[in-house]
Amino acid sequence: MAVTKIQIVIVGGGAAGLELATRLGARYGRKRHDIIVVDRNRTHIWKPLLHEVATGSLDANMDEVGYRSHCHRWGYRFFYGALASIDRTARQVHLAPVLDDQGREVIAAHAIRYDYLVLAYGSVTNDFGTPGVAENCTFLDSRAQADRFRDRLLDQCLRVSRAM
Ligand SMILES: Cc1cc2nc3c(=O)[nH]c(=O)nc-3n(C[C@H](O)[C@H](O)[C@H](O)COP(=O)(O)OP(=O)(O)OC[C@H]3O[C@@H](n4cnc5c(N)ncnc54)[C@H](O)[C@@H]3O)c2cc1C
Repeated sequence: MAVTKIQIVIVGGGAAGLELATRLGARYGRKRHDIIVVDRNRTHIWKPLLHEVATGSLDANMDEVGYRSHCHRWGYRFFYGALASIDRTARQVHLAPVLDDQGREVIAAHAIRYDYLVLAYGSVTNDFGTPGVAENCTFLDSRAQADRFRDRLLDQCLRVSRAM
């Protein structure tokens, strides 16, 4: 007889979500529990390292954790996608479609059932509504932003060196 597993869905595989999934997976495993991490990125990088990525002193590829291999080892499942909405009555999270870099659909929008839902999708830097900040600052909340900062820094160094 098929056993209906207790489904624990963790949205956000950051510092909190990844730690929780790893501990739950290690403790309960796959036998009677289905522990699922949903994240809009394929890999996790510890945010306090982002300034090192931004300045080029750390190669993020060497330090980030790939959810796909990590979940295999630690007894949870990984779903790649961004949370779009929560249906608390039906106890489901709805994920937005995953698109490739040309806007083509890779994974259609879909829903995941949960018995327990943990929202661990973090936060972003607060500009406190200060005029000009959003338009002129480079924020450092994600690997993509850190990569962008490094590229702009290197481009600027090149410009200066060519002008001398
Ligand atoms: C540059 C920097 C330096 C820091 N330095 C320190 C430090 O020295 N010491 C310290 O204690 N703390 C530091 N922090 C703070 C620390 O990184 C955060 O407190 C911690 O990461 C918060 O953990 P979290 O799991 O709540 O969120 P996060 O680690 O931000 O994880 C959130 C996860 O949710 C995912 N996510 C977000 N929205 C969605 C969505 N809609 N659908 C699916 N997935 C989603 C994200 O991709 C991410 O993986 C620093 C933060 C930054 C940005």
